[in-house]
Amino acid sequence: MEGGGATAGPPSVLVVGAGVAGLAAARAVHRHGLDVRVVDRGHRPGGRLATRTWDGRPVDHGASYLTVGEEGRRDGFAQVVAGWEVAGLARRWTDTFGVASADGRSTTTGPVRWAAPAGLRSLAEDLARGLEVDLATTVEQVTTTPGGRPAVDGVEWDAVVLAMPDEQARRLLGPGLAQEIRDEVLSRLDVAGEPVLAVAARWPARVWDDLPDGLFVNDHPVLGWVADDGRRRGDGAPVLVAHTTSDFAIAHLEDPTAALPRVLEELGALLGVEPPSDAFVHRWGLARPVGHHDEPFLLRSTGAGALAVCGDAWSDRPRVEAAWLSGERCGSAVVQTLADQPAGRSA
Ligand SMILES: Cc1cc2nc3c(=O)[nH]c(=O)nc-3n(C[C@H](O)[C@H](O)[C@H](O)COP(=O)(O)OP(=O)(O)OC[C@H]3O[C@@H](n4cnc5c(N)ncnc54)[C@H](O)[C@@H]3O)c2cc1C
Repeated sequence: MEGGGATAGPPSVLVVGAGVAGLAAARAVHRHGLDVRVVDRGHRPGGRLATRTWDGRPVDHGASYLTVGEEGRRDGFAQVVAGWEVAGLARRWTDTFGVASADGRSTTTGPVRWAAPAGLRSLAEDLARGLEVDLATTVEQVTTTPGGRPAVDGVEWDAVVLAMPDEQARRLLGPGLAQEIRDEVLSRLDVAGEPVLAVAARWPARVWDDLPDGLFVNDHPVLGWVADDGRRRGDGAPVLVAHTTSDFAIAHLEDPTAALPRVLEELGALLGVEPPSDAFVHRWGLARPVGHHDEPFLLRSTGAGALAVCGDAWSDRPRVEAAWLSGERCGSAVVQTLADQPAGRSA
């Protein structure tokens, strides 16, 4: 990773995590004219906004869709989504899903669910456009210099933003961080995450006729949700994506592939369809936070710089919109903090 350690020129910010939160934070910093670099251990940006190309066709195996709520309309996310719609990157998918429970089937109507013809990851790639993003780069530790500047794997920055689930951020806060900062930040990063297995399955042709765009599955030992990826994408492909319950995922975290036959069996029984011709499973160890922070992000002065944490756990409604809002607000706050402590840059 190339450093931002120079003290001449605009302040330099490193954002660790190229998910929605990290990219939104980086865009906010960039907008204010500061130097910003993003790093992610993944080979593509997006984090849990994840799309795999499967025999030439994209399939979303992370987030199923995104929504825009009141906060997003007020604080800028709606404009971002509107821009994606105009550019043809996002499409209004549906506002109605099915609900399967022991009592039978019903439907539920809610906000517009947005999908992406090229997969939701394409939206993260759009956020990353114009930013300096280093992929396939795993950060090991955040430290502070004797002068109070944050450093990442030995390279100094004016500010460091960790845009990721608490459990992942905690792993980066080792003994090289000033003791009182480490103690305080660690004590606040207390939101755990729970896993989900995502299973994509495809058939030679659409063999279901009464499946809604998506189906919430209640009180089921294995399944929690099924999305019709063909209708989501708008190409009608015979592809479904099922998400398991977190209890089932916990029981199969070590060997998710071994859980695939059971998931497909339950999917077939639920929908009354024959086994698919092909399927894959993806393990999300930290699919969603259990609990949340009341604040929109964490920001701590390191003396002559700042350390911040943001992501979807910094909202009581953890989702794509929340991650974007947390990142945007965190990035703007970092800019303000650095403007308030110019002396730090010569420390
Ligand atoms: C199965 C599933 C279904 C979901 N369904 C929906 C849905 O329908 N609607 C909705 O709105 N939301 C949904 N979500 C939630 C949504 O995906 C998240 O809220 C959002 O994407 C979180 O973004 P983030 O930037 O906070 O975190 P992440 O996307 O997790 O980004 C964190 C990034 O940090 C990187 N990273 C971590 N540690 C390091 C390190 N040491 N070095 C370098 N990089 C590192 C990771 O690689 C990752 O890219 C779903 C999530 C999952 C998993």
